[in-house]
Amino acid sequence: MADATDQQPQTKSMDDIMSLCKRRGFIYQASEIYGGVNGFWDYGPLGAQLKKNLRDVWWQDIVMNPCQGKPGPKGEPISMVPVDTCIIQNPKVWEASGHVGGFNDPMVDCTESKKRYRADHLLCFPVIRDDETYDNATPIGYVASLSREQLLEQENKKVWKRIRKAFADSIGSNEHAGYSYGDERLYSELQPEERAAVLGPDASERGTLTEPRQFNLMFKTYLGATATEDDIAYLRPETAQGIFINFKNVVDTTRVSVPFGIAQTGKAFRNEVTPRNFTFRSREFEQMEIEFFCHPEEANDWYVFWRDWRMQWWQEIGLAGENLILREHDKDELAHYAKEGAGTSDIEYRFPFTAPGFGELEGIAHRSNYDLSAHQNHPESNTKLEYLDTTRGELAKNGQPKGERYLPDVIEPSAGLDRGVLAILCEAYTPDPERPSKVFMRFHPRVAPIKAAVFPLVNKDGMPEKAAELHQMLVKRFGHLGKIETDPKQSIGKRYARMDEAGCPFCFTIDGDTLTDGTVTVRDRDTAEQKRIPFDDVVEFVATGLGLG
Ligand code: ATP
Repeated sequence: MADATDQQPQTKSMDDIMSLCKRRGFIYQASEIYGGVNGFWDYGPLGAQLKKNLRDVWWQDIVMNPCQGKPGPKGEPISMVPVDTCIIQNPKVWEASGHVGGFNDPMVDCTESKKRYRADHLLCFPVIRDDETYDNATPIGYVASLSREQLLEQENKKVWKRIRKAFADSIGSNEHAGYSYGDERLYSELQPEERAAVLGPDASERGTLTEPRQFNLMFKTYLGATATEDDIAYLRPETAQGIFINFKNVVDTTRVSVPFGIAQTGKAFRNEVTPRNFTFRSREFEQMEIEFFCHPEEANDWYVFWRDWRMQWWQEIGLAGENLILREHDKDELAHYAKEGAGTSDIEYRFPFTAPGFGELEGIAHRSNYDLSAHQNHPESNTKLEYLDTTRGELAKNGQPKGERYLPDVIEPSAGLDRGVLAILCEAYTPDPERPSKVFMRFHPRVAPIKAAVFPLVNKDGMPEKAAELHQMLVKRFGHLGKIETDPKQSIGKRYARMDEAGCPFCFTIDGDTLTDGTVTVRDRDTAEQKRIPFDDVVEFVATGLGLG
């Protein structure tokens, strides 16, 4: 049987994964019967449960049992509380946070292919005549591509032919005239006259890319029936601001004290210009965000703590291996709110469509006190958000600290639930030509949508009744964690094959021997091996397999 470790995701086909997702009811195109709607996806029965399980595992490990009991940098227990805030807030929230003014991507349209690209994603590679050396050459133009790998990958195929054709006037019939890969520049950095000589990624002629234009990513709506300019509101582009604007409420109404975190999961909406790569870049998606408030002097330690623990968490739920990396941002990548010297990092997964590169799953950012001070300073918020820390400050005569007022710094681990589900689907997908299903989904038992299956070998001779009894026992004990499947029909091979594609870790079969010697067959999804265990041990067996034993 195939071993998942020798299956690099870049050898997996995204088309195959998407087709399994459709066939087995993980993910469907939204509004499919009307031709779909770009950037929106619906989750089917298995997908909805998988997504819920990932959200629940995050909630369990962040809110209920923060960091699975791991202590903070000074050995203190992690304090965390949840909130559930609205998708629509007062539009002033988005003014203060910088989203109304700044949540823009510079976009470039191709007048030939009608495709649209982000100007800061478009790499322009100089085209050099072959009779010039690279050092003193003046490029005769540029070839734009979304990545160096993409350009290299297509070499010797259509691309080179396309480039030769587009540059024929300058390179003439010189068979060997080439283009260089050195020192690419971003389209947004080129001068207008240089842009006129750029061959777009999907164009056949040069100069078909427009000047970059700003594009606001927030979805607008109107409150009330009149729909005037005064009634404009926005669907939240992130869940984080709902946490910041409730910081004072939480401090005033609970017993938390800094350092502590507020966690929330929920939908976010971005009118992405180029939604693509299945659910990776959608217009409606779900986030799982933590804002962790701490004293500025301790912020760097907390940043390191959260960065490392979040990485460990993704590894523990099944993304172990070289497809997951932690990437610390370069200085010039840091967001506007990042503090000088403070870190920002991404946890990235090598998806089949990003390979050999990686795509972001979660960002961990040291946001300093950017958001709290933006809300505090907005002329219409009228609210002091400073925190009174009674454990700090000079000592008073009675020996007690006088207290210190400050705006806490914030460490923000911000993860995408849909991207997490997608990474888990890609990682779990394991081709195995020897199985009837040809593929199985190697989900970590904590996130597997179906936790166990119970099958009577045949639908008679007392087997269905015994199977129903075991099914009920398992539902009672594990039903809150996921589905317990049972199915009396079809050949046992077909039933196993279906469970392989659904990623069910354990199948139990009731046969004639069960009724005489009280044992059942258990089949392991990953090895397809079967063994017999006592009927009475099944519940404990599953508990151990799910990490609850
Ligand atoms: P990107 O650079 O890919 O656009 P981002 O840096 O803008 O992402 P954040 O604003 O940090 O993303 O959002 C936090 C998380 O939300 C991301 O790590 C990602 O998992 C998820 N996310 C962001 N945009 C989308 C989207 N359009 N579709 C699905 N998930 C998304």
